[in-house]
Amino acid sequence: MAISPMMTHYLELKRKHPDALLFYRCGDFYELFFEDAETCSRELGLTLTGKNCGGNKRAPMCGMPYHAVETYIAKLVNNGYKIAICEQLSEPSKDSRKMVDRDIVRIVTPGTVIDTNILNDGANYIACVYKDKNNIGVSYLDISTGEFNLTEFNEEKSLSNLNDLLTMVQPKEVICNAEMYAFYPDLLAVKSEYCSKFELFNENNFDFNENESYLKTILKVNSLKQFNCANKMFAITSAGALMNYVTLTQKRDLKHINSLNYVTFEKYMQLDANTRRNLELTENSKDRKKRGSLYWLLDKTNTKMGSRLLKTFVEQPLFNEDKINLRLKGVEELVKNIIARENLKSLLYNIYDLERLCGKISYGNLTPKDCVSLNNSLKLLPEISKILDGFKSKIITNINNDIVLFDDVTSLLTAAINENTANNLKDGGFIKEGFNKELDELNNISSSAKMWLAELETKEKESTGIKNLKVAFNKVFGYYIEVSNSQKHLVPYNYIRKQTLTTGERFITEELKVIEDKILHAEERKVKIEETLFNEIRAFLLTKIELIQKSAKSIALLDALYSLASVAVERNYVKPIINADNNCIEIIGGRHPIVEAINKNEDFISNDTILNSSDCRTMVITGPNMAGKSTYMRQVALITLMAHIGSFVPATSAKISLTDKIFTRVGASDDLAFGQSTFMVEMSEVSYILNNATNNSLIVLDEVGRGTSTFDGLSIAWSVMEYLSSNLCAKTLFATHYHELTDLEGTLEGVKNYCVSVKEFNNSIIFLRKIIRGAANRSFGIEVASMSGLPEVVVTRAKEILHSLEANDINRNVDIKMFNSEAPLTDKRNTKEIMQVLTDVDLNTLTPLNAFDVLVQLKSYIKDN
Ligand code: ATP
Repeated sequence: MAISPMMTHYLELKRKHPDALLFYRCGDFYELFFEDAETCSRELGLTLTGKNCGGNKRAPMCGMPYHAVETYIAKLVNNGYKIAICEQLSEPSKDSRKMVDRDIVRIVTPGTVIDTNILNDGANYIACVYKDKNNIGVSYLDISTGEFNLTEFNEEKSLSNLNDLLTMVQPKEVICNAEMYAFYPDLLAVKSEYCSKFELFNENNFDFNENESYLKTILKVNSLKQFNCANKMFAITSAGALMNYVTLTQKRDLKHINSLNYVTFEKYMQLDANTRRNLELTENSKDRKKRGSLYWLLDKTNTKMGSRLLKTFVEQPLFNEDKINLRLKGVEELVKNIIARENLKSLLYNIYDLERLCGKISYGNLTPKDCVSLNNSLKLLPEISKILDGFKSKIITNINNDIVLFDDVTSLLTAAINENTANNLKDGGFIKEGFNKELDELNNISSSAKMWLAELETKEKESTGIKNLKVAFNKVFGYYIEVSNSQKHLVPYNYIRKQTLTTGERFITEELKVIEDKILHAEERKVKIEETLFNEIRAFLLTKIELIQKSAKSIALLDALYSLASVAVERNYVKPIINADNNCIEIIGGRHPIVEAINKNEDFISNDTILNSSDCRTMVITGPNMAGKSTYMRQVALITLMAHIGSFVPATSAKISLTDKIFTRVGASDDLAFGQSTFMVEMSEVSYILNNATNNSLIVLDEVGRGTSTFDGLSIAWSVMEYLSSNLCAKTLFATHYHELTDLEGTLEGVKNYCVSVKEFNNSIIFLRKIIRGAANRSFGIEVASMSGLPEVVVTRAKEILHSLEANDINRNVDIKMFNSEAPLTDKRNTKEIMQVLTDVDLNTLTPLNAFDVLVQLKSYIKDN
């Protein structure tokens, strides 16, 4: 049997979009066929049916009503599918042989979602990466707001820069050229799922000249100079390709994409993927949710736009003293001004996501309900502006200058849209009475129609004597008079039969026909007029889009600053002093912001920190397990980072030098799935730090070297510390259980010992959580282990072993295997030579490093003999 014309058309479209699930509109339904139907039924739990479309077998089919489609699309897109939406573009013809015109109107992909029900709170980026041999151009766009960024990396570190950027931006979808495609699986950002897998985009889309002129056309400019990227070949090539992709998938003009933002990473503090994860900037490391992250703590915003911007603040701390101070002064002014803050809160709370509403205006999917939200939001701007008039800080005055008042928009929307009936376009009835004369007249007809019909019904009942006669309506037959079978004999001759039912008959009369014509014509015309009026309103809003976007940006910034100020007040934070000239971090009474906020059972004990580039650049921190070493080190990193965001910090005072990068190496994570052992991961992270840190960096190293045997680990930790302190002069916090490292104070310039104090009590220890000068004298590992619920017998045995180790006067950190093994030290053959070596050693001049060397030599001598 020949394949039906509809199915031929379906297959033709499917051939053009093999990678997308094709949603094919048929009347009130979207239908999917073949494999797409099977996928959809599996993913969404919908029934798989079949349809006769010609051919030998029924085509597997799965369908859903058009009004429920958004929920299904949301689910599929979240699961990483692309969806091609094919709509009916003409009304079904009376001639059933003529096919309805259909075409794909949009392709929804994870990175090009615009539906606010699917979008998360943060930005939703699609990125494009273009790579040649040494250079990389990257662009990333949030299509729901029009935010369009680009940058390029030109040196040999371009891949690692790309990695950091992707970790920061976390795009939901990435397209790239062939050269890049070969490299992407090795990117840590992809491996650790900070960004999606890359997709290959046709090489033709990466032509610089074509892309440059395409961008100029879209942005309506003669040169890209005004966006600071005139000679950024790689960035422009990438951005042009991204616009090609967006045009290809969205199939419409997007007026809200009207600007480019060239991102220079020198303006931001650099944070690699590990540091972002370790410091739990935007998600916690347990379940990768927002709760427990720094963003969660700082997010007291009232608007979606503010919350998105705050997230960007946290992800991109600044590396520019003036810019940080600009924010800090704004926050300070808001902190001091309680009344203004409270008033702003209630106003901001009622402002909708103007950035995404602009996306909808441009996209053409703005609803009457959105117009009400837009109107209600814009109406609040004058009040906000009035409050800000009293502010003096530059950032807030700039915000106020950028807030435009939209009297023309609000008067139009107030006059045109009926708040109570505004919903979706297709529901109709949203234009206010008095806005359009013809519409008012038609509305009069519609409302009179009810009365006419009621009058007609009464009149007919009386004239015919049919008591249960009723006038009714259905979509297929229009208006009719229904008479039940028992009363049929009373029907007068002028009734024209329309339909026979089992229970009765339906008729039409000339009079009813006239009324019906009037009503139906009015309804039809009303829909047309409302549609035209709404299109005119949208066209007007389109002319205002750039101004609305500008105000939206200001409101978002105001809200983000508001949020930082409220957290500062609520949590008793202090304004940090940023100092670019003095390479020193000086925190008095510092607290860990998250531990303090979450752990309500224990009062948080504050601690001081002094780190500089001279006499105190490396803090060696010892102390028992559970004492608070990691908490302290992360606290210093977080306070430093918060200061660079422009946030107040949890301390009684803080002077923070401008820090270019923060590095953290904490905890034992392994990457077994990618072929790296725990120790290899640790070492590659350390080597990354040593290769990238500068003397303006802050480094947190937690127990480096513990992933291997004691002596190897100790030696590595020792030499890493020497390198950091002597070669890099970076400010370093180094927590360790290798007590030998505390010998470096006095030997290695800039090293200072600190420990977390504890008190011994009744065979147990009490954690005092105070960081004090000096080295810890004991590990208390066994005491802490016993507190964890280790069986008593194991604890007792551990104590015995420890005593025995200490009694033999062997370094207490010595490898237990060495002690238990056939101890060659006691072997008579070697004893003499060993004794001689030990006698010759001059303890007065022996440095810890020399002592270590002697031990290594003795060990290898014993092994060889
Ligand atoms: P380990 O050596 O076993 O890794 P640690 O010394 O790094 O341990 P942390 O993990 O920093 O110890 O701290 C253990 C717990 O102690 C934290 O989870 C926190 O709840 C609490 N804590 C740490 N510092 C403080 C403090 N200053 N005030 C109050 N509680 C604290």
